[in-house]
Amino acid sequence: MTWSHWQVPPFTTSVFFVLGVLTLYWVTYNWLISWTHTRRISVTDETVNTWYGLIYMIVFVFAMQSLIVGQSDSWQFMNFELIAVTFCAFFINVRISYYLLFPIGVIFMVFNGSLGYWQSWAHSLTLMTFFVVLSIIHTRLQGRRCIMVYYLATISGFGALLWFWMKLKFDFSWLTMWQEWVYLIIFEVLLYIYVSMLSHDSEIKLQLAKYATHDALTKTNNFAAYTEDMEYLFNQSTQNGQPLSMMMFDIDHFKRFNDTYGHSVGDLVLRRVTSTVQDVLAAHDANIKLYRTGGEEFNILFPNYDVAATKPIVDEIFDAINHLEIPVKDTVVGLSISVGVSAITTDDKAPMDFYNRVDRNLYHSKRHGRMQITVD
Ligand code: GH3
Ligand code: MG
Ligand code: MG
Repeated sequence: MTWSHWQVPPFTTSVFFVLGVLTLYWVTYNWLISWTHTRRISVTDETVNTWYGLIYMIVFVFAMQSLIVGQSDSWQFMNFELIAVTFCAFFINVRISYYLLFPIGVIFMVFNGSLGYWQSWAHSLTLMTFFVVLSIIHTRLQGRRCIMVYYLATISGFGALLWFWMKLKFDFSWLTMWQEWVYLIIFEVLLYIYVSMLSHDSEIKLQLAKYATHDALTKTNNFAAYTEDMEYLFNQSTQNGQPLSMMMFDIDHFKRFNDTYGHSVGDLVLRRVTSTVQDVLAAHDANIKLYRTGGEEFNILFPNYDVAATKPIVDEIFDAINHLEIPVKDTVVGLSISVGVSAITTDDKAPMDFYNRVDRNLYHSKRHGRMQITVD
């Protein structure tokens, strides 16, 4: 960060450089996440966050350092390195085992040719402690107002110590050391503000995405999610010959709840029904999903299940709902469902063919006295 390397005031350039590096991270990370989602790659966002964040920042730090390694002023990008560490530990909170920090530190020292300096070892160990303390602050104080104070206090303390080790190693002036320390604090404050703004933005996006695919009343997947998943699973099934089954159910005489007790009780019944089904599914297989496809009509998609394999789960759901007892005012109400089940066949040319057969089975159950399962 000296005039010899930058043609404009180094501090200004550095601020925009750091913001650019973070923006690039954010954009590529979001692209990666939506890519894994559209490809339905079974990796959690948390894992992508940890590994992509870590690799990105390691590449950034090593690439920066490679420009100046071996020079007498090879300390000059240290603030960038501290920002990378803060970003990984505090902001994206990468879940890395602490013992992995040591080899990373040693590799960096080998790369930097500083293994023989005790000050570099002191610096490395301080840096690892810095990482750990920032991670702990993030985990323990997340969402608390005082977090900013702890964040700044940690950065000020560790920042001063880390620059002190470098001062001892390179023997630059106290003025330079404190100047770099002040730059670090300013960078870290800007980082805090910038990342808070970006996170707020991505939280809104996540909320919107959730509203687009989930039903507001029951919090289950909605019709849009059903259509998309059905399309994907239908194609998978017809291309790879994987089985796919569907259960469709409709609450019997649901209108009576509304007419007798009011719509709020009808809503309560819908919520109890969906939470009961979700509990059963969660106990079996996370890949089986429930969708609210109509007012009191629901579909469940069973990827990789033939009809026989769905039977125990379908029976369990059927029994659980038929035995529900929902307290309403000074009474307890019960309910029943009618069910249709079927699996995809080679005759099904489009998802609608499959859907219509399950629907016919459901209405067969309705016409023949309700509270029964029709499988075909
Ligand atoms: P069947 O056994 O033939 O299915 O009779 P049903 O009364 O369940 O069926 P019907 O189609 O006659 O009535 C469904 C009712 O569900 C009508 C509608 O007012 C109600 N409904 C749809 N969505 C909601 C909702 O979100 N909340 C509440 N409370 N009622 C809803
Ligand atoms: Mg009904
Ligand atoms: Mg209905």
